[in-house]
Amino acid sequence: IQLHGSKLLDAQGKVIGVLLVMNDVTKMRRLERIRRDFVANVSHELRTPITSIKGFVETLQSGAIYEPDNAVHFLNIMARQADRLNQIIEDLLTLSRIEQEEEEGKVTLTWKPLKTVLQAAIQVCEVRAAEKQITISLSCPDNLQARINPPLLEEAVVNLIDNAIKYSPPETAVAVTAEPATEKVLIRVRDQGRGIALEHLPRLFERFYRVDTSRSRKVGGTGLGLAIVKHIAQAHDGWVTVDSTLGQGSVFTLHLPLSA
Ligand code: ADP
Repeated sequence: IQLHGSKLLDAQGKVIGVLLVMNDVTKMRRLERIRRDFVANVSHELRTPITSIKGFVETLQSGAIYEPDNAVHFLNIMARQADRLNQIIEDLLTLSRIEQEEEEGKVTLTWKPLKTVLQAAIQVCEVRAAEKQITISLSCPDNLQARINPPLLEEAVVNLIDNAIKYSPPETAVAVTAEPATEKVLIRVRDQGRGIALEHLPRLFERFYRVDTSRSRKVGGTGLGLAIVKHIAQAHDGWVTVDSTLGQGSVFTLHLPLSA
């Protein structure tokens, strides 16, 4: 708490009171720290692929360019790292766009059937699922409606299905379900993947938080997917939860309230 004090004087200059102003700066300090951490995280995430690209450029410059097989291999890695940089930037822009729209109350929600949105999300992920022989099922009543922003909700569900595929072994199943509950609709994405240890759950939806940094980087994640999901849930006046058992699988649930 910051304290400012000053004397109150009357016309003759006699002290008749004291004015005290107390400012609770806890929240301000916390926001400052979050912003600083965020900038540090972004810099680190961007620097990693840049360092790798720079390293391969130097290797090529110092002669590897004349070894065609190696050169092709190095160039492929460099292209992948450049894609990764692009993906990070794209995810950061998505996140800030959603946050801004959320703050300015610009996200329009309309009553729409959920099934079409869920089907569209599954379709987006089908190729990646097929590569790992993962099947995606859908269970959603035809007439189930909710107050949604279809493109945003689709993006959230795609992120959840994408994670389910990334963090599951081949030949497993991903189930997408939607059902009505008391004054809300629940959309679930369930996988039979590696699961997440309890200690990680509280921080899972933070930007750039990963359970296993090196392994998650390898499967191609930016660490921003769940932060985007969280903000999309909030833009729907809702929230997202996770239940997970290590070695058995995870369930991510979007809770969408039926009234504003
Ligand atoms: P990433 O781009 O790394 O996937 P996310 O924000 O989408 O970032 O997820 C954060 C971390 O949460 C992931 O790195 C992974 O460790 C963990 N995670 C997310 N979804 C799942 C899942 N379905 N099963 C197991 N771990 C998951």
